[in-house]
Amino acid sequence: MQSQQDYLEEERLGKALDVRLLRRLLGYARPYWRLFLVASLLAGGITLVELSLPYITKTAIDSVLTPPWIAIRAESPPIPEAIKLDEGRFLVRAQALPRSVRESLEEGGKVEGRYLLIPPEGPGAEVAARHPDLFRRIPEGYLVAEPDLEKLSAGERLTLRAPAVRTLLYLVLGLLALLLVRFLFSYGQVYLLQYAGQRIMFDMRRAIFRHLLRLPMGFLDRQPVGRLVTRATNDVAAINEMYTQVVVYLLQDALKMAGVLAIMFRLNTRLTLLILAFGPPLLALTFWFRRRARDAYREARRKLARLNAYLSESISGMPIIQLFRQELRSNRAFQKINQGYYQAQMRSVIVYGIFGPTISVMQTLVLALLIWYGGRGVLSGVFTLGALVAFTGYVSMLFQPLSDLSDKYNILQSAMAASERIFKLLDEKEEPTGSRPLPTLRGEIEFKDVWFAYHDEDWVLKGISFHIAPGERVALVGPTGSGKSTIVNLLFGFYRPQRGKILVDGHDISELDLAQLRRKLAVVPQDAFLFSGNVEENIRLWEEKLSPDGVRRAAEAAGVHGMVKRLPEGYSTDVRERGGRLSIGERQLLSIARAVAADPKLIVLDEATANVDSHTEAQVQEALERLTAGRTVLAIAHRLSTIRNVDRVLVLSEGRLVEEGTVEELLEKKGLFWALWQLQFASVSPAEGADS
Ligand code: ATP
Ligand code: MG
Repeated sequence: MQSQQDYLEEERLGKALDVRLLRRLLGYARPYWRLFLVASLLAGGITLVELSLPYITKTAIDSVLTPPWIAIRAESPPIPEAIKLDEGRFLVRAQALPRSVRESLEEGGKVEGRYLLIPPEGPGAEVAARHPDLFRRIPEGYLVAEPDLEKLSAGERLTLRAPAVRTLLYLVLGLLALLLVRFLFSYGQVYLLQYAGQRIMFDMRRAIFRHLLRLPMGFLDRQPVGRLVTRATNDVAAINEMYTQVVVYLLQDALKMAGVLAIMFRLNTRLTLLILAFGPPLLALTFWFRRRARDAYREARRKLARLNAYLSESISGMPIIQLFRQELRSNRAFQKINQGYYQAQMRSVIVYGIFGPTISVMQTLVLALLIWYGGRGVLSGVFTLGALVAFTGYVSMLFQPLSDLSDKYNILQSAMAASERIFKLLDEKEEPTGSRPLPTLRGEIEFKDVWFAYHDEDWVLKGISFHIAPGERVALVGPTGSGKSTIVNLLFGFYRPQRGKILVDGHDISELDLAQLRRKLAVVPQDAFLFSGNVEENIRLWEEKLSPDGVRRAAEAAGVHGMVKRLPEGYSTDVRERGGRLSIGERQLLSIARAVAADPKLIVLDEATANVDSHTEAQVQEALERLTAGRTVLAIAHRLSTIRNVDRVLVLSEGRLVEEGTVEELLEKKGLFWALWQLQFASVSPAEGADS
């Protein structure tokens, strides 16, 4: 149930735009604003290049491939450069006519076809001279009508069109240069954005981990580990996506669409308006489909998380499953989860399967409209072929950002949700610590009427008071769950008592600098934790400057030298790779060596609950003897055989100190300690030891 809620929380979505969040998020981008600025400038450059590509095509088709001169019926020259052909007929360059003049001439039916004008000298003139029936000689050169060009051979036509071929070559070279520019700009843009994104992720992970290191235990207790890991990995990645795929590209898309619209309106207003009518339905459709697709995808991810959880639980619990013959039941449960995941995946496949083709159909519809309407325009002469071709290019440039928009919206939404979760974690109050320094430790501990609960009023410690003098060795015993480890947790300042005071060397620990305090106490915890690294590094943990020799001496003092020697690579054995194979006893021995290496004044020892063999126990016992000589010791003991040498015993029961005294005194008293003693030694003869 708990885990299911966690999945839901991971999937919870915020608003796509939350100004407060966004501002804070942008704070992480601020150090890299120059990168974003350059990326934006590149976006402008890329847009310009992309806008120019269809226009170059149009130019190639219109001014190169079609003959440039048109004959016009008019009384007087429409422009000064016009060449007079006959009475009432003039020859002009189509490009030279102002657009408004040309349109009014075309509408009035005054245009009489296109011509090529060949200069009077050169290879073109030779071809012309060979076909006097097709070419008309005028003072400016030879004139030939477009339809008559068909009567010439291909070679002759190319000769006549040599200047156009040259222009075409320049255009193609220009096109290639532009493509190269676009490639370089795009590369630069992607690189800059990815670089900035990676830096931002790096900074965020650092901030999160730094914060995690300072959070109070009380908070960390309540968080499933997986969730915190997700904060520093997946959530950060979601934000990276926003920086690398949305921020600058939104600007680029806006620029591109504005540019495309401006050009399209210039080319043809009515056609542009007609095409724009397709925009809103296309946008609505994409949003609707993407929402369905996203839901399906999320559902699949939820199911996958459940599948993974069940799998890992089953694999690690396999001995129990087989021992209790739960195979059938387990298999049935797995089948159900597996089926759910399969169905969720299929739903997602279907949605995506419909979405892609639908969008293509829409785009094809727009294209069909364009060809029909634009084609008629070309035939009637109001529209050039080049413009029509350019239009099809611009239309796809116009619709691409629209259909991408919903993707960007989703990314933005996930990034907002992720940043909300991250900032919630970052806003969690850090562990409070005092500032009073603790110069040298004498090793005196005092608890004064300490009340403590992990939650609300579930008191785990109820009015604990005791005093340990410097150099005294005290054992803490009591039934499981009576609060022994809790006392250690409080002493190290992991939690704050709700009532009462804890004094070290007479200073209230809430006023002390906790880092310093912890540095000066050594603890051998109940569940010894080994860090990734080798045995030597684990022993050296507190004393970074300790030489390999020092490590060896500490290990000898702790009685683990022999055990370490038996490991395949001795002190360089990687404990994580072998961590699973180090026994609980071995791990505890290593953490004793760690404490020896630290050489502290005050040692707290939380004995492993698990049984170790009598030989190891004797080793631990001996190690502790050596470790504890001349230091203050607070030892939590489960095997009462290990506490024979302590000065005093504190007996804890259900959060209260119920007995106190030397072992002999307590045994004489015949109270709780005596009862525990009886339990441990009644069934086993003392000679055999407490455990076997
Ligand atoms: P053991 O002999 O088994 O080590 P203990 O005396 O060390 O037991 P504690 O670990 O101090 O017992 O636990 C005392 C009580 O506090 C138990 O009821 C336990 O469930 C509860 N408790 C311990 N740690 C936490 C925690 N982090 N959050 C909530 N409750 C806790
Ligand atoms: Mg404990």
